[in-house]
Amino acid sequence: MSERSEADAKLSEGFVEALRAGLRGQVLTPEDDGYDAARAVYNAMIQRRPGAIAQVADVADVIACINAAREAGVLVAVRGGGHNAGGLGVIEGGLVIDLRGLRGIRVDPRARTVRVEGGATWGDVDHATHPFGLATPCGFISTTGVGGLTLGGGSGSLTRSCGLTIDNMLSADVVLADGRMVTTSADEHQDLFWALRGGGGNFGIVTSFLFRAHSVSMVIGGPTFWALEQAENALRGFQDLIEGAPEELGGFFAFATVPPVPPFPEALHGRKVAGVVWCYNGQQESFDRIVSPLISDVPPLFHAPHDLPFPALQSFFDPLYPPGLQWYWRADFMPKLPDEAICEHVRHAATLPTSHSTVHLYPLNGVAARVGAGDTAYRHRDAFWSQVIVGVDPDPSKAETLREWTIGYYEALHPFSTGAAYVNFMMDEGTDRVRATYGANYDRLATIKRQYDPDNFFRVNQNVPPAQ
Ligand SMILES: Cc1cc2nc3c(=O)[nH]c(=O)nc-3n(C[C@H](O)[C@H](O)[C@H](O)COP(=O)(O)OP(=O)(O)OC[C@H]3O[C@@H](n4cnc5c(N)ncnc54)[C@H](O)[C@@H]3O)c2cc1C
Repeated sequence: MSERSEADAKLSEGFVEALRAGLRGQVLTPEDDGYDAARAVYNAMIQRRPGAIAQVADVADVIACINAAREAGVLVAVRGGGHNAGGLGVIEGGLVIDLRGLRGIRVDPRARTVRVEGGATWGDVDHATHPFGLATPCGFISTTGVGGLTLGGGSGSLTRSCGLTIDNMLSADVVLADGRMVTTSADEHQDLFWALRGGGGNFGIVTSFLFRAHSVSMVIGGPTFWALEQAENALRGFQDLIEGAPEELGGFFAFATVPPVPPFPEALHGRKVAGVVWCYNGQQESFDRIVSPLISDVPPLFHAPHDLPFPALQSFFDPLYPPGLQWYWRADFMPKLPDEAICEHVRHAATLPTSHSTVHLYPLNGVAARVGAGDTAYRHRDAFWSQVIVGVDPDPSKAETLREWTIGYYEALHPFSTGAAYVNFMMDEGTDRVRATYGANYDRLATIKRQYDPDNFFRVNQNVPPAQ
């Protein structure tokens, strides 16, 4: 059966009934209450109607779903937090294996590790680790799934000080396409362990991750805003600062519109600005000392970083970006930006089409950059920035405007890029883009794929087909 007709085929009643009988979790079909809520993903631009959604309750359910789908030739999508840019956690037709029931977390404060089930969110993890004064590097919105973010790499406010999320992954339990579960680490199934660290959902369903945790409790966090007229100097100044700053300093540069909510001064509400959202794992005085050259060279409109619990910083943006908005994404890895690229940024940022639309530049230097390009499937250790441009709005009728603006901005900056992009910020941009992104690591990934998933059972992802 072709991929298309396979996905379109309505699942047989027999398939659904057998699944229902075999699982502890529920199986929802389009006739069931709760189906529409269960199929919805974070990006409302993605509207797909799976044949069934298996809300798994345990690892045995995951194994049963994989075996049933493989034997029946049913296309499968795996859903973690449902945040993926291109909506890879849901498909048209076929079976969604929904991991949201697998959210158990256990912190080992003595070993400074945290074990996390495959359907947890980063908010769940931060909540569990914070009482122990610990955190694992993750992204910026607390509702993002641990599974998808980790398997693509995982960058965030602790990247400079503690590395990417994958650099802190110690082991993972994975259910493979043939229904076997293996544990992978630096000592077991090393090739699979290498592939999971950046290779996305290509290799199996991770039911449990073990992460290293770091001493992160209270941090100095929050935003600084500059007028767009100051944005060139602010971006150039931040780039120079972050290149040599102590690794405890994290933060990303953004173009955005000031939201009309406290703590932002009313005079700034609705104003387009350039900004930095800081995260410093240290004392206020040393933070002030480190950032003072930038703040005095380019005096900001607003500067309010202060001490707050790490989970508060990590959920700061949640109310501004609830699930259900329209999102159009384009991304690139960038080297240190030349002046010409900075000018292009400022020119395009002045045209942010809606108040939710934004551009982020995440610095990747520091600890993450000291890992070798071939040490993990994720290879962009020498990129300076992970850049993402997102057109965002609640109104579906703006979808085309968001798309056009995002692509126009992206095309202006892409010539300055490394040619690759972070897989977790990509929509469906085709196989060449995936190949370019994995670059020299692609052939090894395809070989490992052939070993663990020779029939490309797990293909609803940034797909790396098995080597021939
Ligand atoms: C608002 C927002 C902010 C973000 N911020 C950041 C950020 O700061 N840093 C960053 O690195 N990324 C960030 N991302 C990108 C994010 O990493 C990706 O969207 C990621 O795919 C989300 O994972 P998920 O589990 O929520 O997604 P899902 O849509 O559920 O899944 C995405 C992919 O991962 C696979 N997958 C998920 N869980 C598992 C599992 N347990 N086993 C096997 N495969 C699995 C799925 O099959 C699918 O292919 C952000 C995304 C959004 C929408």
